Amino acid sequence: MKSVQIGNFDSLSTAPTNWAGNIAFGASSVLHPATVEQAQAAVRSSHKVRVLGSGHSFNRIADTNGTLISLSKLKRNISIDAEAQSVTIDGGATYADIAPQLHRAGFALANVASLPSITVAGAVVTATHGSGDGNKNLSAAVSALKLITTDGELISLKRGDAAFEGAVVSLGSLGVIVELTLDIVPSFDIRQNVYLNLPMATVTNRLDELMSRAYSVSLFTRWQGETTDQIWVKARAQAGEPAEEIFGATPATIPCHPIPGMDGTSCTRQMGVVGPWHERLFHFAIGSTASAGAELQSEFFVARKDAPTAIEALHAVQDTFAPALFISEIRSVAADNLWLSSAYQQDTIGFHFTWKPDWEPALSAIGAIEATLRPLRARPHWAKVFTMPSDEVQALFPRLTDFCDLADRLDSASKFRNRFVTDLLFA
Ligand SMILES: Cc1cc2nc3c(=O)[nH]c(=O)nc-3n(C[C@H](O)[C@H](O)[C@H](O)COP(=O)(O)OP(=O)(O)OC[C@H]3O[C@@H](n4cnc5c(N)ncnc54)[C@H](O)[C@@H]3O)c2cc1C
Repeated sequence: MKSVQIGNFDSLSTAPTNWAGNIAFGASSVLHPATVEQAQAAVRSSHKVRVLGSGHSFNRIADTNGTLISLSKLKRNISIDAEAQSVTIDGGATYADIAPQLHRAGFALANVASLPSITVAGAVVTATHGSGDGNKNLSAAVSALKLITTDGELISLKRGDAAFEGAVVSLGSLGVIVELTLDIVPSFDIRQNVYLNLPMATVTNRLDELMSRAYSVSLFTRWQGETTDQIWVKARAQAGEPAEEIFGATPATIPCHPIPGMDGTSCTRQMGVVGPWHERLFHFAIGSTASAGAELQSEFFVARKDAPTAIEALHAVQDTFAPALFISEIRSVAADNLWLSSAYQQDTIGFHFTWKPDWEPALSAIGAIEATLRPLRARPHWAKVFTMPSDEVQALFPRLTDFCDLADRLDSASKFRNRFVTDLLFA
């Protein structure tokens, strides 16, 4: 890797890796522009470019053999428009950067993912999501964005523009997002309770009742035996006192971690203590460490109506993948209209898998999951590990051709395409 100085950019001389350590980026240089103008200069002077967010993806989506640009040194900009109920932020900001400030100003994001330390831009281009029947994935909160395109020029796109619904979930392939505007709502309080040992048959038979019983519900299971491990219920405070039991599942009496046996004190406060949205909706508390990174992740999304079939099918083949698993999480995500969203035009249930960090057993388990969910046309999470062939992936996204046309228009030099997206989407 070259050590590069352009203007007063910093550069790295060692190859960075992703958070999990399973990907060593192949970039010839890594630049940390401190201003948008420096980022524009970096794009102009580079043949191939990708942006690196916080590096929490598990595949080569952020990789490049050209220039990797990190926006972590951009000045944090968090500008709230109370009347428009929106916040405008810079392209390097993380949810941990913006959430406390939003709360202090009396506002909230409608939903967040499990981890606060990921960048907003990295989350929205990959259709990252939380849970909740009424909650869309995080990309759906974007109302405008500013992009540096191939020639270094800045363009703005806003909701309602012809290309907008194609430009948000972009897998980082349209340019460098230097600014985003997000919808916000008045701040709200949440009460989080964890319940243990729900029979798996109840999940299959009463999924709608389970998922709709609170603002955000997650089910955690190791797919072993006949019960799920935990239900995390995040309810609006005004919804009243928590249930004493849920279909036979009983309340936890100590703080829980999604992975049974791990220390729950790194997680957001549980056991019904009311607190602000940003201290309950993430699973992991701002400033805490989720885990050491010794894990891999995959996730597949099926249409909501097919979820009971998916659960039964996965339960039936549990022995083919459970030994490689730390934990699995089942969440609901509402439909949106973003072309490459995993919830494009269908209410969706996501089946997430946190794998032990052993590549071969994890790959074999992922293959078993994909084979099981193939008849249900399960869409993969763009930022996690999957092995489905590209033609199968392409067939799952009806607006893919429109997205490729948009990419050809905005990035005629294919500067922002890396091998991962070229093979997956453009081949
Ligand atoms: C512990 C853990 C928990 C997680 N929890 C969840 C969860 O609850 N729900 C969920 O859906 N996912 C989850 N994920 C996955 C995670 O949300 C995604 O990997 C997300 O992309 C991470 O954001 P990042 O900033 O690390 O992006 P990176 O991994 O750095 O990059 C991802 C993509 O975004 C692009 N990108 C980043 N910034 C920009 C920019 N400014 N302009 C253009 N492109 C850009 C990159 O080029 C790349 O293509 C989790 C991951 C981990 C490690």
